Amino acid sequence: MAARRNRTKTRKRRGASHPNERDVATSIPTAFLERLAADVGPDRAKAMQQAIEVRTNRRALRLNPSRLDRSAAETHLGVPLTPVPFNPLAYWLPQDAPPGVGRSPLHAGGGFYMQDAAATAVAPFVDPQPGEWVIDLAAAPGGKASELAARMDGRGVLVANDVSAQRAQALHENLERLGARNAVITQAAPAELARRWGGRFHAVLLDAPCSGEGMFGKSDIARQEWSEDAVATCAVRQDDLLDAAFALLAPGGRLIYATCTLNRDENEGAIERLLKRQPDATPVNLERTSGMEPGVLASRQDVRNASGRIWPDASFGEGHFVACLKRTGAQAGAFTADRRETPPMLASTEGMPSPLTLLSEVLEPHVVDALTPNLRIQGRSVWALPAPELPLDGLHVLAPGWRLADLTHGRWSPAHALAMGVMVHEVRVSVAITDATAAARFLRGEELDVGDAEGAEPRDSAWVWVTYQDVPLGWARQRGHRLRNLRPKRLRVS
Ligand code: SAM
Repeated sequence: MAARRNRTKTRKRRGASHPNERDVATSIPTAFLERLAADVGPDRAKAMQQAIEVRTNRRALRLNPSRLDRSAAETHLGVPLTPVPFNPLAYWLPQDAPPGVGRSPLHAGGGFYMQDAAATAVAPFVDPQPGEWVIDLAAAPGGKASELAARMDGRGVLVANDVSAQRAQALHENLERLGARNAVITQAAPAELARRWGGRFHAVLLDAPCSGEGMFGKSDIARQEWSEDAVATCAVRQDDLLDAAFALLAPGGRLIYATCTLNRDENEGAIERLLKRQPDATPVNLERTSGMEPGVLASRQDVRNASGRIWPDASFGEGHFVACLKRTGAQAGAFTADRRETPPMLASTEGMPSPLTLLSEVLEPHVVDALTPNLRIQGRSVWALPAPELPLDGLHVLAPGWRLADLTHGRWSPAHALAMGVMVHEVRVSVAITDATAAARFLRGEELDVGDAEGAEPRDSAWVWVTYQDVPLGWARQRGHRLRNLRPKRLRVS
């Protein structure tokens, strides 16, 4: 997100023959290359320039572990996967992988997320534990937040926030697709969240807007928008964002800071400036993975050790920076938040049928029992709130939790987010489509005949959870052999 455009230096790259090769037409800024040489030495800078200019970005994906494993992904996507060293769930696609991997029904069903290899390095350092309170302050479009949600396994709360309305919408869609059950999705300035919720979180991730030097290998816009002024502007903004991030931490809580840029001021420098402003901040040594180097541009050894760098010549893709800090102070046993009186669910159902009847038709009884204490009706939907005590009044909230059901024409029906978040042992009736063509037809919104799908039998009238190769595709209403497709129109692909 650089602040200024610089469109003067353009050079067309002709003959881009490889399917992965991006159409990058702008030269790498000279001032950037000079600074890189001063920072890492001329030989290393040359190697990086070559990596950025010559090497095509290798696409990578990160598996959603409750849905898809490597061998099923290789079988159904029809490509071998090569492990990425930065994250045990991440794999490179082969250079000649067909372009349509992201259009697979396994993608629509939240089986995986297309993510640059270097970007997958960050969430493992947040290492969220089920039950913790975690906030991702600049979360859109959700690459890291969706991994945090998967690691939390529906327990605790993940606040996923982005300041941009449009990007927050993409974040919402991705967290829904990947099946997040404990996410509160907001669109707010981080300083506003710090003012409301200061001192409450076990872990804060700030994947900051930056000058994007690590994206030069694939992004023309990153090259065009780069300037020394843009770097300086980003560094000032990062100081403000880091202060907000730090204020959100409970004593003993950890802050993970990340960027996809390469210069010192936005990376090690930002951490060193924060340490000067915040006396109760301490660097935490990072256990770096192979391919990740220490924060070599730090002037302090402890910041060097607390930082990890993936340079572009080591990643077949983006460059990335990550650092970890802690707020000093003991974490007193279980984390406590202000317990607020929250209205009982049925208080707000006056004049409406109870959603519990619908939920009991769709979900196994133990699941309904577990969800019931935290159910709330807001608007025309019923939500399971991961943290009813988290005050949301006056904020722009895209999702206060897991959306379970929607009221239309006076009747409750199961929400798409419920279909994407439940597991096979939690639903009452399911049908497993085994044929990729039928799955594609379901994703287009077509009605299907259950035919010989697994779990197929004629039914009078039932809500049916439809899956393909163990990933959910949505709800259908079954009458006889016919499945009336309830996948939302906004998601139907042509
Ligand atoms: N964490 C995301 C992921 O893994 O998909 C990528 C985040 S991207 C590097 C940075 C985000 O910061 C953008 O989504 C952008 O909307 C947001 N942003 C831009 N300016 C901001 C500001 N002043 N405060 C907070 N967030 C900002």
